[in-house]
Amino acid sequence: MVADRQNVEEYRKRGEKMARYTGPVCRMCRREGLKLYLKGDRCYTDKCSIGRRNYAPGQHGQNNKKLTNYGIQLREKQKVRRYYGVLESQFLGYFKKADKMSGKTGDNLLKLLELRFDNVIYRLGFASSRPEARQLVLHGHFTVNGKNADIPSMILKAGDEIKVREKSQNSVKFKDLVEAHKKTAPQWLQVDPDNFTGRIIADPAKEDIEIPIEEHLIVELYSR
Ligand code: SF4
Repeated sequence: MVADRQNVEEYRKRGEKMARYTGPVCRMCRREGLKLYLKGDRCYTDKCSIGRRNYAPGQHGQNNKKLTNYGIQLREKQKVRRYYGVLESQFLGYFKKADKMSGKTGDNLLKLLELRFDNVIYRLGFASSRPEARQLVLHGHFTVNGKNADIPSMILKAGDEIKVREKSQNSVKFKDLVEAHKKTAPQWLQVDPDNFTGRIIADPAKEDIEIPIEEHLIVELYSR
C-alpha cells in the first residue's frame, strides 16, 4: 500500500492520472467474453474464470441480449482498453494521436498501444502480465537506452533498448520471474533473457497481438 501511495504521488507530481482499475479483474474478461490475460500465470490454468463461467457477470449475465451496432463498437473499444489497462481519457488521447498520424487510424492506434512501455516489458517476458509489468516499471526496475525509466505509458520506438537494472538483475525474485516467463517474443522484438535485455527491432504487427481485434469498430465508434 505504501508503494501504491508513493506511485500516486509520483503521478500527481507529473500531472498524470493513475491508470489503475482496482475491482475484480476476471470480471472484465467475462464481460468481454474472452481471455484478456490480466492475471499472469493463473490465466493459463483451469482456475481461469473464462473456462469455468464463460458468461457476463451480474444478475442478467446469462441472458443473451442482441447488441446494437453501437453496443458492438463500444464492447470492442472496452475490450482493447481493458486488455492494455488504459483509462478512458488516455485511450481517447491515443485515438486522437493515431488519427493525426499518417496511415490508417486503427493500425496506428494498435501500434501506439503495443509500444507502451508496460506492454513491451510484458511482451519481452520480463513480467507475467501487463498489470505486473506496469507495477515493475513504476518501481524503477528498467532502463531505456541506458537511462532510468519508470513511466508505464511511455511510448517506445524501434531501436530502443530495454534493460533490467543491474540491482534488480541480482534479486532472486526478479531472476525467477524472468526465468519463468522466457517465451518467444513477437517478431518486432529481440530478447536476450540471460542478459535481461530486449530491443525493439521493428514496428509491431497486428498479427502478433494475442487476442482478435477489429480496430475498425473503434474508429467507427469515435467517428460517430
Ligand atoms: Fe482471470 Fe486471466 Fe482468466 Fe481473464 S484470462 S478470467 S484475468 S484468469
